[in-house]
Amino acid sequence: MRSLQELVRPNIISLKPYSSARDEFTGEASVYLDANESPYNAPYNRYPDPYQRKLKQKISELKQVEVDQIFLGNGSDEPIDLLIKAFCTPGIDNIISIEPTYGMYQVAADINCIEVKRIPLTAGFDLDTNALLKAADSKSKLLFICSPNNPTGNSFVQEDILNIIINFQGIVVLDEAYIQFTEMEDIVDSRKLLLEYENLIVLRTFSKAYGMAGLRCGYALAGPSMASGLRARHNSVDPAAQFIELELLFR
Ligand SMILES: *Cc1c(COP(=O)(O)O)cnc(C)c1O
Repeated sequence: MRSLQELVRPNIISLKPYSSARDEFTGEASVYLDANESPYNAPYNRYPDPYQRKLKQKISELKQVEVDQIFLGNGSDEPIDLLIKAFCTPGIDNIISIEPTYGMYQVAADINCIEVKRIPLTAGFDLDTNALLKAADSKSKLLFICSPNNPTGNSFVQEDILNIIINFQGIVVLDEAYIQFTEMEDIVDSRKLLLEYENLIVLRTFSKAYGMAGLRCGYALAGPSMASGLRARHNSVDPAAQFIELELLFR
């Protein structure tokens, strides 16, 4: 695959992230005067932890992944949009998706002015790996695979997914919103693949099997080298009110 430096949008690589006193101070204070906090203990008086330490710690224990492999989103819909923003230059780059699949990839791409190359599944609803790989050109930054797929409901053959991860020259986004409805989580665990393939990103959510769509809490898992470059910053301790700001520092 191409290096992350080659794949990330140039303006994002050179981004100087916003930094506040909260980024540097890890202690506890009853009132942060510099943040104009109310001293009267109003329930939402405090800006949330920019590193979302508590929530990430919980997800790390729950899912047996390292804290620095996690970035959180306002639902997993938000990482979809953020990944397009981080990797695709509007009007120039493109993404590849299967057809039919989850409609949000197209919407997020349209919002960001990114072309989507939609490659039909085979008659048996399997991945047409040759067609997917053939559709890729030097401007193809992301390839979305939803498995189990919405709306067809089937999980894709692991060798096909691996074939794409190995041969696609960009980032493969594996959307596992419905993974708990299969035995896949036990058979070939994408969390292990993350350690091996640095061009893989896995999307998970609390909206479906966990039945907590109202929280708007999803997350992306990435391998160590991707995760060291991707730093997600939430502005909420309460996942129900999350806003995310993605910072990419590939240095
Ligand atoms: C529902 C869904 C999502 C996103 O759900 P969130 O509530 O934003 O986490 C992502 N992918 C697929 C395939 C879905 O069906």
